[in-house]
Amino acid sequence: MNPSLSTIDIYSSVQNSFMKVTVVHYGEIGIKGKNRMFFERKLMNNLKKATGKNVKKSDGRLIIEDHVDPEILRKIPGVEYFGHALKVRPDEITKAVDILLKDRDFETFKVIAKRYDKSFPKTSMDVNKEIGAYIVEKYGKKVSMKDYDLGVYIEICKDSVYVYVDRFSGIGGLPVSSQGKVVSLLSGGIDSPVASFFLMKRGCEVVFIHFFNKTLHTRDSLKKVEKLVDKLTEIQLSSRLYLIPFYEIQREIIARVPSKYRMLIYRRSMMRIANMVAEREGAKGIVTGDDLGQVASQTLDNLNCIYSQSRYPVLPPLLGLDKKEIIEIAKKIGTYEISNLPYEDCCSFMIARHPETRGSPEVLEKIESTISGLDYLEKDALERAEIKQFVYPRR
Ligand code: ATP
Ligand code: MG
Repeated sequence: MNPSLSTIDIYSSVQNSFMKVTVVHYGEIGIKGKNRMFFERKLMNNLKKATGKNVKKSDGRLIIEDHVDPEILRKIPGVEYFGHALKVRPDEITKAVDILLKDRDFETFKVIAKRYDKSFPKTSMDVNKEIGAYIVEKYGKKVSMKDYDLGVYIEICKDSVYVYVDRFSGIGGLPVSSQGKVVSLLSGGIDSPVASFFLMKRGCEVVFIHFFNKTLHTRDSLKKVEKLVDKLTEIQLSSRLYLIPFYEIQREIIARVPSKYRMLIYRRSMMRIANMVAEREGAKGIVTGDDLGQVASQTLDNLNCIYSQSRYPVLPPLLGLDKKEIIEIAKKIGTYEISNLPYEDCCSFMIARHPETRGSPEVLEKIESTISGLDYLEKDALERAEIKQFVYPRR
């Protein structure tokens, strides 16, 4: 399942007339009944965008012309697994096997044939036996049903036979933009990029919002947030980031609100602005990186105070994870290193050492009512937002 990437070089050094293709399997979207076509089309479009190659359908899998860098396909939601294959006629399977096994280091192998074209005269088992015997005789290797060094995959489809030995795992999930749009509150910390990833993996298009305070953040320090969005764009292929100035709102809050409540009032304000962005974007949910009990603002009472400011469902996918589980995922998707760059989130600006952990919506509403023009300030912040666009592959 995890061959070395150097196999790509072996293929390219082989002079042959067989077409090199990448066979892409999708798991979950294959069983979506009537919606199946819709999901397939989304995935096809995303694969075309990510690879710049032609993609077509063949008997319940997608075929990309050429061998695509596994690092690209590993990140595309909806891809269950994929293989670098040679596209051949049924009478050319052994030729393809010879090419694929050239200079391969292995002792045991297993042939895994699947007949998707039921009009093909041999069964999968026949092909397994025939090709297995061929490899035993010609290469002196042993068949092993379990724990084999090399899998030889043969997929017999209507249009062609696809043969490969390099099979790679994808991330699964559903194709991006098959589930509509959400707005994600991205802080620059470790958690919120991972939360955004989870929504992408389940097929959402994620629009990012980041609040910054101009006295804490220079243009340069905002590069960190842009880097995070750029990294996450490898998954969803195109992204929009709203950089929303928060200084003016924070200034008013600091003037009126006792320090122990400020964090909660900041976050309620962020939530209301996120709702305005969702409305503007036609998004249907708000994503946060909250993780129950992790910090003072994330007790159940406080989340209640914050989330009550949203008309849209708030989706916090990390709620049940431990920090170390979140870090592991951040490392896998490549955001961890970026998140660790120095940066101070504006939520930590002028707050008490011991912030309120049991906020009550009534108390907070009362405090907010003492800040005159808060709703105007919130609308104005959005008006002054800088909106940045990201695409992958990068131009
Ligand atoms: P993270 O690692 O995502 O920063 P955290 O554990 O540090 O999370 P908080 O700082 O309390 O927790 O933030 C909780 C959530 O609030 C974040 O995950 C994010 O969704 C949102 N958030 C906080 N600060 C900002 C900000 N400046 N801009 C946008 N969203 C923010
Ligand atoms: Mg944070």
